[in-house]
Amino acid sequence: MSVSVNAYIGLGANLGDAAASVRAAIHLLGELPNTTIGGCSSLYRSAPIDATGDDFVNAAVQLETTLDAHTLLRELQRIEHDFGRARPFRNAPRTLDLDLLVFGDTVIQDKVLEVPHPRMGNRAFVLLPLYELNPQLAIPGLGQIEPLLAHVRDQSIEKLP
Ligand code: AMP
Repeated sequence: MSVSVNAYIGLGANLGDAAASVRAAIHLLGELPNTTIGGCSSLYRSAPIDATGDDFVNAAVQLETTLDAHTLLRELQRIEHDFGRARPFRNAPRTLDLDLLVFGDTVIQDKVLEVPHPRMGNRAFVLLPLYELNPQLAIPGLGQIEPLLAHVRDQSIEKLP
């Protein structure tokens, strides 16, 4: 029997009804095979970083899954695709972005997948929802979230009501 892993997914959207897209994507994550949702952060609004267009709506979700990391990434990409994500130019505004942030204690660096996600340590829109979900989370290679938060204090982000 496969071992269940705690995986953390970052969600972001800044096109159309972004909050509705994020909520719908969370629902779809709960329907993935061999996967259950262990927790869900609030929704946040953040100013775009490395992207253009409107503010983003962000959230993080904890999954318990027996899928392997690459299968999970493919499932995330399928959900993104189903949301009609188009990439007309680099860093274009996006309907829905799903990132595999953390996959248990596993570190992966290959052509299609880097886990922990390489830019998560300096993005408030990732760290704040993750901290809300699990303040004790130790990110492989980065450690606890709380000290990282001090470095992203200048980034504009607010919790949505
Ligand atoms: P983006 O356009 O920012 O969503 O990046 C998508 C690309 O990043 C895809 O080609 C993925 O294979 C790659 N990628 C590498 N690591 C990750 C990860 N941890 N989560 C999501 N996509 C990843």
